[in-house]
Amino acid sequence: MNAKFNIGDTVYRGTYERHEKWVTCPDCLGSTHIKVVLGDGTEIEIECGGCDPGGYQPSTGIIRQYDYESIARKFVVTGVKVTTIDVNYELDNFGSGSYYTGDDGNVFATREEAIAKAGEDRIKYEDEENKRLMAKTKNHKSWAWNATYHRTCIKRFKDALEYHNKKIKISEAKAKDVRS
Ligand SMILES: [Zn+2]
Repeated sequence: MNAKFNIGDTVYRGTYERHEKWVTCPDCLGSTHIKVVLGDGTEIEIECGGCDPGGYQPSTGIIRQYDYESIARKFVVTGVKVTTIDVNYELDNFGSGSYYTGDDGNVFATREEAIAKAGEDRIKYEDEENKRLMAKTKNHKSWAWNATYHRTCIKRFKDALEYHNKKIKISEAKAKDVRS
């Protein structure tokens, strides 16, 4: 293989910058709650699972997404390694301990070429990451689970409340017996 660039050449390598943006949750449309109709016709309102940030935080009504911007970074070739199958470049390796690498597939003579290459990959990454962040929405199984879970808890606490109330009444009754 012949190297396209030599030590000391200025080259451009494409990359992208992520810009955070927030979009309205498509499940609750920002209201943070959704209505669920259970099998017996009972309609209940639960916190939206689509924009639930997890933990004890309440649902937010918004979902994080990213815009990717293709950019080109300028480097100086500081090393060239040629093998029979490819060419590798060391970039900005001035001995400070941090440097980058590139090859003939992603290092270019002009900023425009580098940005064009970054643009090809960008769309794929952007789409994949945003899909992943959206993955929780439209998850009917987890909504149903949430609804069932909260109802079970309410029933359990109601039973517990009844039990403890009874205990106290008994004690009060007993206390009265002692006094009288
Ligand atoms: Zn939501």
